[in-house]
Amino acid sequence: MSEMPFMSPLQFEAGVAAPEVAEPEARAHWFVFKGDRLLVELGPPSPRPSDDLRVPARPSWARIPGLTDSGRAASALQKNNNPLWFEPARTLYLGRLAGIDCWAAEAPADAAAPPAGLAWEGLRALFSVLEDAHFALAGRAIQLLDWDRSHRYCGRCGAPTEAKAEERARVCPACRLAAYPRLSPAVMALVRRDGEILLARSPHFPPGMYSALAGFVEPGETLEQCLAREVEEEVGVRVSRIRYFASQPWPFPNSLMIAFVCDWVAGEIRPQAGEIEAANWFKVLHLPKLPSRISIARRLIDAMVEEMRGEA
Ligand SMILES: [Zn+2]
Repeated sequence: MSEMPFMSPLQFEAGVAAPEVAEPEARAHWFVFKGDRLLVELGPPSPRPSDDLRVPARPSWARIPGLTDSGRAASALQKNNNPLWFEPARTLYLGRLAGIDCWAAEAPADAAAPPAGLAWEGLRALFSVLEDAHFALAGRAIQLLDWDRSHRYCGRCGAPTEAKAEERARVCPACRLAAYPRLSPAVMALVRRDGEILLARSPHFPPGMYSALAGFVEPGETLEQCLAREVEEEVGVRVSRIRYFASQPWPFPNSLMIAFVCDWVAGEIRPQAGEIEAANWFKVLHLPKLPSRISIARRLIDAMVEEMRGEA
């Protein structure tokens, strides 16, 4: 299995109920978010160019603060003899990474600025900077915090919900409706024909960047049906020989990307108004700007281009 950003770390055991007794001052990993930004110790900007058009520069290094179970930082915070400097809006137990308990916490919107040496940073800027396992767990943490925050009340009767101890769910005590963390499956399609791949731009992409097509699965569709529909809607071409490539958890905000490659059968490119700003066939030796290696889109394009260059 190839490494995919955000995939669950091999040494991670997910859990829901926090351990009964934490050893005093035992180490724990804390994934603390304020909005969509993670609390990290952060180095100066790296002189290396960023591979992500959405990220002007990445930090030269970053790590999650080493907090103890009681919420005290082992490093930057403790040096100043300072506890976590705000009361979290919510905390969730995530499980254990190589035997160390992992927690997610949400800072309130009005939390004061972090002490010296700590900063809030977006996940995209931390890709390839933060340790891979911590980066992946940060992606898990932000999704679970968002889900927990959005399911405080029952969607059916409006009563306050309660967290279940034995599984990741919030249950309504009045009508018993259970809410589980939500995932939105999305299909990604790379269409190919003789020595060329079809790439497109959505209006919200950074200037000049093209990527594979993607769309959300609708109720009642198989992944293959979704792919055929999305490709026809977005660029007006028909495809066949749909082959699975790989999948990726994508926490922006809660997708599971399922990527495929397929062959062009018929149709001229006709970009869908409002959805697709431009779409073209690109020769594998002359490609436009592509998404960062953080995304499965780039891994799919790279793998197919390598394969097709080998065939040429
Ligand atoms: Zn209810």
